[in-house]
Amino acid sequence: MTDKRVYNFSAGPSMLPVEVLEEARDEMLNYKGSGMSVMEMSHRSSTYQAIFDETKATLKRLLNIPDNYKILFLHGGATQQFGTLALNLLQKGRADYVVTGNFSKKAAQEAAKFGDVHIAYDGKDNNYTHIPTQDELDIRDDIDYVHICQNNTIFGTEWNYVPDTKGAPLVADMSSDFLSRPVDVTKYGLIYAGAQKNVGIAGLGIVIIREDLVKPHRPDIQVLSEYDTMIKKDSMYNTPPAYAIYVAGLVMKWIENQGGLEAMEKRNIKKAKLLQDYLDQSDFYNYPTEKGSRSNMNVAFTTPNKDLDAKFVKESIEAGMTNLKGHRLVGGIRASIYNAMPYEGVEYLVNFMKKFAEENK
Ligand SMILES: *Cc1c(COP(=O)(O)O)cnc(C)c1O
Repeated sequence: MTDKRVYNFSAGPSMLPVEVLEEARDEMLNYKGSGMSVMEMSHRSSTYQAIFDETKATLKRLLNIPDNYKILFLHGGATQQFGTLALNLLQKGRADYVVTGNFSKKAAQEAAKFGDVHIAYDGKDNNYTHIPTQDELDIRDDIDYVHICQNNTIFGTEWNYVPDTKGAPLVADMSSDFLSRPVDVTKYGLIYAGAQKNVGIAGLGIVIIREDLVKPHRPDIQVLSEYDTMIKKDSMYNTPPAYAIYVAGLVMKWIENQGGLEAMEKRNIKKAKLLQDYLDQSDFYNYPTEKGSRSNMNVAFTTPNKDLDAKFVKESIEAGMTNLKGHRLVGGIRASIYNAMPYEGVEYLVNFMKKFAEENK
């Protein structure tokens, strides 16, 4: 069955490691002798509690999360956190947002409903092909936090340094590069990610928050948006996205078995470099993303024209690849090569690209 699987370059939901799918399959009908699937299990049962605790512990080990950070597994993916984090972190009512793409823009728009939001940088003039340098950031004094999107899924850029925020807590949307490389958690006040890019399936948002930023909640927000309540209830005020947490746990264990985040980063750099180096030397394809701002997770490029882009997508499907069509906002081609994409998948893509360039130049 696995030999019929396609190389899926989707930006999300995206590929899962085959080993994880096999493990989930093997445990589907009868999880470890419980006589039922994890899908059917009470989230209050000791069997499920063990899955939950182990997932949390594995994440803590992988990212080296210090004890003064809390881990939450919440409903609603990353987008839910756009507003939730603003509702919780806005104490003075002021926050600065670095806009490097569509998701950071959405995050800023959502926060602006609840406070005074200042755009510290906006990449629209360079069509989001550039991550700002420290000097380009206009960060105000006396703010609650600075928000960045660490990997811009649509445009294929990624921060390769941690910005200086003049003492304000740094909040990062890591949805599309979460667990793809080591991160110094202590440099962040809050990290969040939707699971379906690099760590599992949709429906789950992971939040890692420094304890001192958790304040008594506003009285006028929904209970599931209250970080303090969700921490007190260990993410289980109501039924959590139980199966998605289980799958995330399997993926985290898989990452650990691969050698952890350092090994993941090495693999990911090797994969991305193969594709990026080919694009750079090609006079057929155009890869406009600035060097130094490039993402190792999403690589966005074009052929010489729109007709050839469409032809590329069509023929790539016939060749056993899928979801290479660029985001509707930018067009072109985009290859998302998250943790679970094997090196062979990128190799296969590059060989296809060589052949396509030869046939259509
Ligand atoms: C996909 C994505 C989101 C949105 O995630 P949802 O889980 O669909 O809400 C937000 N930010 C980034 C960087 C993403 O890649």
